[in-house]
Amino acid sequence: MTMDYMDVISQHESEVRSYVRGFPTTFAKASGSYMYDTEGRAYLDFFAGASVMNYGHNHPELKKALIEYLSEDNITHSLDMASVARAEFLEAFNRLILEPRNMRYKVQFPGPTGTNAVETALKLARKVKGRDTVMAFTNAFHGMTLGSLSVTGNGFKRQGAGLTLDNASHMPFDHYMGPGTNTLDYIDRMLADSASGIDRPAAVITETVQAEGGVNVADLEWLRGLEKLCRKYDMLLIVDDIQTGLGRCGSFFSFEAAGISPDMVTLSKSLSGYGLPLAVTLIKPEYDIWAPGEHNGTFRGQNPSFVTARRTLELFWSDDAFEQEIARRGKRMAEFLEGLAQRYPQAQGSRRGRGMMQAIEFGHVELAEKISEIGFRHGLIIETAGTDDQVLKLLPPCTTEDADLEKGLAIIEKSLVEAMDELGISRDRAAGE
Ligand SMILES: *Cc1c(COP(=O)(O)O)cnc(C)c1O
Repeated sequence: MTMDYMDVISQHESEVRSYVRGFPTTFAKASGSYMYDTEGRAYLDFFAGASVMNYGHNHPELKKALIEYLSEDNITHSLDMASVARAEFLEAFNRLILEPRNMRYKVQFPGPTGTNAVETALKLARKVKGRDTVMAFTNAFHGMTLGSLSVTGNGFKRQGAGLTLDNASHMPFDHYMGPGTNTLDYIDRMLADSASGIDRPAAVITETVQAEGGVNVADLEWLRGLEKLCRKYDMLLIVDDIQTGLGRCGSFFSFEAAGISPDMVTLSKSLSGYGLPLAVTLIKPEYDIWAPGEHNGTFRGQNPSFVTARRTLELFWSDDAFEQEIARRGKRMAEFLEGLAQRYPQAQGSRRGRGMMQAIEFGHVELAEKISEIGFRHGLIIETAGTDDQVLKLLPPCTTEDADLEKGLAIIEKSLVEAMDELGISRDRAAGE
């Protein structure tokens, strides 16, 4: 029987479906940096499942570990009962990640998704400090459940809640007020002044690079300043490293370069390494004040996810080879985008990013979406970000081979040229105007 897969999905699945609209084909297989549809057509993946596939699709070593685990009838589901896979993951995480970085965190498994990790951090921060509000930033993205949504900026997503989202105060992220304004000075003033109308928050939650919000990069100095403000006003610092962590921005934790020490850290997306759901909330031991079972959930650490997650730690994080590769590839991506902005000044592109999360924002708002659409026709999966989808976001798997990276970059350039033609943006206006 042949089935029209797309037809079945559009008939039966909710209108809420989204990526299927931008990338309208039915995927069947994937390997490394490529996804293949049912016709066998190859797509070079510059989106990596929004940074879930940092180690590439179906990594052979991870697949081997998973198949072995399953084929031996090892336990799949065990709530939060002790299991071999759980203990082995925790041991490897401490030995390979926390100890070498001189970090001390308790690990909480909050449920399988990113938003579960964020909800957990918000709830625990409120419990620790006994205060209601959490400070969050303009253009932040932290997930879709009510708590996470309340600290998310995007108005379209917020109105989906159907009720007032409160107990959050939104402050300007780094660079939000334009050059020359340090937004921390403003926040400091608001917190210092008991007449500002801002209640003292339990915590501040931030990304180091606002991935969904448009790849807005916080300066390392700003992150250090934010940590100082947290100490000054007795607020916990929560870093949401769900999209920026796990190599994407150059190191395991994206905040390592800033040298800050968050009180809680959320990880998910690429944590299992294989596209299996897994999330953690890391908690400084002194704040781990939960009573047993006070926060609960059925899927808090699936054993198959532990197996592949542990294997990624051994394969990619035993030395600094992977970080060096990311630095090299990220530099190439950044240089390419800088060059692109120079070669096509009429597109008014400006580059930003860290590591292998690189982006270009176009002055012409429709360009990024057009490039994504045309790129797909040329066999490239690439997404946009920002309030108006005006930012083209490059998120190839961090394991992407150099030749494939170049291939993807070439498709971006070709798609930009075609997009400018389609949108009637003149190609021969003088440079530098
Ligand atoms: C994806 C993401 C989330 C939410 O994760 P889900 O698994 O979709 O719930 C939260 N924060 C950041 C920074 C993210 O990128």
